Amino acid sequence: MNGTDAVRPAVAVLGAGISGLVAAWELERRGHDVVVLEADARIGGRIWTHRFAGPDGPVAELGAMRIPPDHTLTLRYVDRLGLGPRLRPFATILSEPDNRLRVGRRLVRVRDAAGPLTDDTRERAGGGPHRPDALLFTGWLHAMVRAIAPAELRELARRDLGKLLAVAGRVDLAPFVDDGRADLGGALAAHPGLRAACDPRLESFLDDLVRESGPGMVRLAGGMAQLTDAVAARLRRPVRTRHEVTALDVRADGVRVALAGPRVPAALTYPVVLCTIPFSVLRRLRLTGVSADKLAAVRTLDYGAATKVALHCREAFWTGDGIAGGGSAPGGRVRQTYYPPVEGDPDDGAALLGSYTIAEDADALGHLPPARRHAAVLGELRDLHPALGGPAAIRETVSVAWGERRWHRGCAARRWGLTEAARVREAERTACPQGRLFFAGEHCSATPAWINAGIETALDAVERIDAFLRRAGDRPGAGASA
Ligand SMILES: Cc1cc2nc3c(=O)[nH]c(=O)nc-3n(C[C@H](O)[C@H](O)[C@H](O)COP(=O)(O)OP(=O)(O)OC[C@H]3O[C@@H](n4cnc5c(N)ncnc54)[C@H](O)[C@@H]3O)c2cc1C
Repeated sequence: MNGTDAVRPAVAVLGAGISGLVAAWELERRGHDVVVLEADARIGGRIWTHRFAGPDGPVAELGAMRIPPDHTLTLRYVDRLGLGPRLRPFATILSEPDNRLRVGRRLVRVRDAAGPLTDDTRERAGGGPHRPDALLFTGWLHAMVRAIAPAELRELARRDLGKLLAVAGRVDLAPFVDDGRADLGGALAAHPGLRAACDPRLESFLDDLVRESGPGMVRLAGGMAQLTDAVAARLRRPVRTRHEVTALDVRADGVRVALAGPRVPAALTYPVVLCTIPFSVLRRLRLTGVSADKLAAVRTLDYGAATKVALHCREAFWTGDGIAGGGSAPGGRVRQTYYPPVEGDPDDGAALLGSYTIAEDADALGHLPPARRHAAVLGELRDLHPALGGPAAIRETVSVAWGERRWHRGCAARRWGLTEAARVREAERTACPQGRLFFAGEHCSATPAWINAGIETALDAVERIDAFLRRAGDRPGAGASA
């Protein structure tokens, strides 16, 4: 071990995503000495704002892009970090009248979708008499499932369409359909039988579907990375990037952290370690001094992929098609296309989130080399927006396949198909400390896959670590030597 840390901090936090950064900040505020070790050259983890064309160019969110209104922890930190004035409404998928969606073989505008969705639903159900509100509700729910859900859940929805339509026909949906649209969240909350008509895997996805397609979503003008940057800027010690953890050994008096990276010591031992490394990565590291049950939890936690492909366009050509924002759902390999507002100088061009896919759909694109991935997305986008075929319409294309990234190997932990009690049990098992090794990260939450989950689990871990260090008699502020 070299002597770069003559006095070692009491706590090492592994991972500089939102959970690691918030935990480090809160531990410091309780008087503990903390260091954050991050494998990547950048901080932020799954919050990643890419800026095209220099410091004032348009931004593309390659990771998290919006905050739902019920995510009070995320909103609390936005506020505490002074970012409240940067909050703007986020226009979500199919929220704008001129967003496009695929119904059967056709691409239609949201404003014209009621008729085609009703006909399509009736046809898929094999004809027969059905109430118009039941057809419209089922049509829109299925349109959202086709837009947002991965192939596996789309197939379950298709299989159970008749069952859902039958239940929809027996309840009063009139208050939830208006002007050719359906209030999916309102109808599902008012009539639990509608949820029960769905397969359990799809049913547990419906909360995210309603959240993602519902009203009140916000974003940060200038990019979500301001959140993680602002927390990092408040830490006493700078985050140590390019510090890749390769093994963890939990001992009676500390945790030995084996490291790789340029000019990085081979191993350091800390009195307490908080690990926020996703289990999809952790399962590839050597873990010793950890219970068999914990190892099983690390090995078996289910992860889904996500792939985003963003284009730097010469101009926001979609406004010429009447699209003011929101997102289209063209299906195919592209799945979701978002139109972020142009906030800077229009001469700097505009960012388009050309494709956002999850799970199997994300793997299909993610497994392609970037050039082929970009060509595949562009080929389909030109059907949606012929303007993209014009000369020099695109300045640059970037993408991230989260399932392929060495530091992530997935987009988020999945707890689909589990009851709420089972989700809570699994989250407790994921978060359960091992002696001096503690855990946080979205995967430790019963409601994973959001920034809010990362913060929630960070705060839980901080309470546990603070209590542990005080019990162990480690004086806050004083580092322990290795
Ligand atoms: C495409 C996409 C879209 C999303 N959209 C939204 C959204 O709109 N709204 C929302 O709220 N949430 C969204 N999320 C989820 C949200 O981004 C995550 O839940 C949250 O950022 C996870 O934070 P975390 O700290 O748990 O993990 P991470 O941010 O992944 O942090 C873990 C850190 O550990 C590091 N690490 C990994 N391996 C090692 C190692 N061996 N050694 C050291 N460090 C290591 C990683 O590099 C990373 O920085 C999205 C996620 C993705 C991928």
